[in-house]
Amino acid sequence: MYMQKQRLDGQIALVTGANRGIGRHTANALAEAGAHVILTGRSEEMLGQAADELRSLGHKADIRVLDVTDSAATNDVADWANKDIGDVDILIANAGIAWPSTNAEDMPDETWLKVIDVNLNGCFWSCRAFGKYMLGRQKGSIVTVGSMSGFVSNKPQNQAQYNASKAAMHHMTKSLAGEWADRGVRVNAVAPTYVDTEMSNVAILDPKNAVPWMEGTPMKRMIGPEEVASVNLFLASEAASGMTGSVVLVDAGYTIW
Ligand code: NDP
Repeated sequence: MYMQKQRLDGQIALVTGANRGIGRHTANALAEAGAHVILTGRSEEMLGQAADELRSLGHKADIRVLDVTDSAATNDVADWANKDIGDVDILIANAGIAWPSTNAEDMPDETWLKVIDVNLNGCFWSCRAFGKYMLGRQKGSIVTVGSMSGFVSNKPQNQAQYNASKAAMHHMTKSLAGEWADRGVRVNAVAPTYVDTEMSNVAILDPKNAVPWMEGTPMKRMIGPEEVASVNLFLASEAASGMTGSVVLVDAGYTIW
């Protein structure tokens, strides 16, 4: 009974930012659990490769190009997915950007606006577009990908724009969870530490980052994208049926100290 609750057979799941990193690993995890996955992102070529790999393993996968900062396009993809593919039961709102790190006093408007646009606005457009369909059916599970940076201010890099976007995402997640809790839609977030993906795997090669990052991490390592994907799978599934509005740290202990 308990393992069965992690199965997603017959369910449809859509992932944003699915062409690489955490999004791609999450799509793999959801597919392995039996879901028909829809991978979205900006690079059609990379999405195609990810979907081909899943199909070659016998899983169902579709792709759609989607820039999450485009709210009208996000609504269109929700319409297409729910009408042409089927009821989307699960949304993983994962797309995000972080860099460049910039001192607040020197930050150009564009840096602030771009990060807020992708991480916060894009996440909201996605939750709103897919949540509407889920509310209509009184059934759905949304996982937003936040960050430990929504709890702490990272060091040594200065990135007020990223930290603020993720803290806001966490609170947005709780707000939506509260609005939708008695209408069958759960909304939870994961908050990872440094993950070995394109976003952080170059920065850690610089000792200026690596030393303080690892000094601040009780487990003394980055985590892998698959370690976030497995938590996303759990939260998306019925195994987490009692959870909504939670922000689950997957931080190798970073916020202990
Ligand atoms: P990657 O940089 O490997 O992946 C980011 C993904 O987001 C890519 O698929 C990228 O696609 C997509 N993306 C970026 N901008 C947009 C956009 N406007 N519309 C649609 N898709 C977009 O990093 P991660 O896999 O690590 O990041 C995934 C999530 O995890 C992000 O929200 C990030 O903030 C969060 N996170 C990451 C941590 C880390 O250390 N790596 C730590 C904590 C949280 P494209 O190829 O089109 O750019």
